[in-house]
Parts: sequence; C-alpha cells; structure tokens
Amino acid sequence: MPEPARTAPLPEIRVGHGYDLHRLEAHPPEGRGRPFVLAGIRFDHPVGPVGHSDGDAVFHAVFDALMGALGLPDIGQAFPDTAPEWEGRDSAYFMEKARARVDEAGFAVVNLDITVICERPKLSPRKSEMTANIARLLGIEPARVNLKGKTHEKVDAVGEGRAVEVHVVCLLARVR
Ligand code: MG
Repeated sequence: MPEPARTAPLPEIRVGHGYDLHRLEAHPPEGRGRPFVLAGIRFDHPVGPVGHSDGDAVFHAVFDALMGALGLPDIGQAFPDTAPEWEGRDSAYFMEKARARVDEAGFAVVNLDITVICERPKLSPRKSEMTANIARLLGIEPARVNLKGKTHEKVDAVGEGRAVEVHVVCLLARVR
C-alpha cells in the first residue's frame, strides 16, 4: 500500500533556478555586441552580449529563477524576442516586473545566490555595485543577494571569452 499523501501543513517556501547565456561579439561595426552590462553595471570591455534586449544575462537569469519559484512563464515566454517593444530594452524593466509578480503572489525573496561565469572582465571590483543594484530593483536588503564570479579556465566558448553564462538559485517564502 502506498503511503497516503501528506496532509500536514508544510512551510510555503519555494526554490527557483535560473540560467542564461549570451554570446559575446565585438561592438559595431565589426560585430553585433552591445555594451557589456551585467546586473545593470556597465563594464568597459572590447566585446559585449548579443541579444534582443540589452543582453544583461544576470537580470535575465534572476528573472527566470524568481518565475521558476512561482511557477510562472520564463523570460522568453513572457517577453518574446520577436516583439519589437523589447528590442534594446534596459533589463531593469524585467526586474521590476519580477518584483511585482513575487509581491502579487504573496511571496518575498529570502535570498538569491548568483554565479557569473566569464573569462573577462574581472567582476570582483564591482561586485558590491552589482548586488546593490539587484537588491534595489527587487526592494530587498543587499545581504540577501550573493554574487560569485568565476572563470571557465580558458576552455570552451565561455573560457575563450566568446560567451557569458549565469546561474541563479533563489528561495522565496510566503508572507501573505
Ligand atoms: Mg538573456
């Protein structure tokens, strides 16, 4: 006989995972790379992300982690890259939408853990600006946002500086 379904109340906490990757190219006219922006912070770098919006892989992965936790459509479903209104859009807009959806669902962010993988530029000098920006846009304390920078040890496309990759895990708790 299978165990009966558990009926005891469980704490309403939700884990979410988000992932994003953007190809990096030289800026026009040599390539199609946009300015290199991560978590809303602009880095002076000879290559930048190719993308329909501004190509901010951190904001995109954070959005997907939060929506994953809520069981809502991901960024590609919510904001199709075929729609002209998202072309070149500042991805802070998606963070504002994510914040509103978390709030509307009656949840709050417990914490976010973010891993950015790129060979260059070096993220460490600007990490606190990045986490402060994420915290501000989501309306949470900076201590709830952690960001780690890693390289890809010079192997594969990310290690060769041809792409930037981001993983995010978040935890949400019901507050209403
Ligand atoms: Mg993206």
